[in-house]
Amino acid sequence: MTIRFRVIGSGSNGNAAYISSSDETLIIDAGLSRKRIVNALLEDQISLDSVIGVLVSHSHTDHCRGLPVLCDTIRDIPIFSSEGTKEGLYFYKKYDPRWKDIGRSCQTFSFGNPFSVRSFNILPLRTVHDTKDPSAFQISINDIKISIITDTGKITKEHLSSMNESSLILIEMNHDIEALKSSKRPIWLKKRIQASHLANSESSDVFKTLIDGSTKAVFLGHLSGECNSPNLVGSEIRRWHSENQSSWDWYICKRDISGAVVRFDGQNVKTEMNPIDLTKKSSSNVSSDKKIKLDEFFK
Ligand SMILES: [Zn+2]
Ligand SMILES: [Zn+2]
Repeated sequence: MTIRFRVIGSGSNGNAAYISSSDETLIIDAGLSRKRIVNALLEDQISLDSVIGVLVSHSHTDHCRGLPVLCDTIRDIPIFSSEGTKEGLYFYKKYDPRWKDIGRSCQTFSFGNPFSVRSFNILPLRTVHDTKDPSAFQISINDIKISIITDTGKITKEHLSSMNESSLILIEMNHDIEALKSSKRPIWLKKRIQASHLANSESSDVFKTLIDGSTKAVFLGHLSGECNSPNLVGSEIRRWHSENQSSWDWYICKRDISGAVVRFDGQNVKTEMNPIDLTKKSSSNVSSDKKIKLDEFFK
């Protein structure tokens, strides 16, 4: 059975990815518009009927804002989240009544307790972030283990031990510490970002323990628009990658363009690049946001 993984978009402006087998598709976060999520699926010849659920990592809008419209398009789509995230989704009912149903129907998981959504086995892990009950995921299907960890100020021992031997890792490289320090953001916000997101150097340190012989692909995501760039991320990872003569591929997730599709046939890995995607080992500059949008305060 072929397993496909794709990051539809990643960054402080919106996040979504999917894992798809022949007839089952799991969406991880819905922080992009319905149009972007649905278009990415259809572009990859994935039927909307195959969508068996959405995992929501936490209730910040860059991870869930597409849910109301997505739920209008794919009816009765099961949503899975922690208890705290469920409360957060329900809270948005004051902005749009559709959140009431989403919050109510959300199925909850507890950290450290694996659960299944059809063929997918999911282990939710608590992250260190500035919202209630945020989660990372370790997802297994057909001997393929995929670890997704973003929006965390710290990688814990539990993360490392649960996520080892992953075939594919999506990890946050949120900000360059010097770029954050020299940005015009207020001090309180800089401190908050440092406590709740991983700096490039911190994520890079994680590779030394998390990446092993099983690793086939690493996705570097959730780049800040103002305090990071693919250039900075590239220079951090390139050094570690070449020093270790690594056999895995790495990709920098873009904020506004869907990334490469990674296809697992057993343990064989093939990448299909999006024709307009230059994210793999990219060295181009990301466009920087001119100002901090209000939303950025809640990410
Ligand atoms: Zn986020
Ligand atoms: Zn967040």
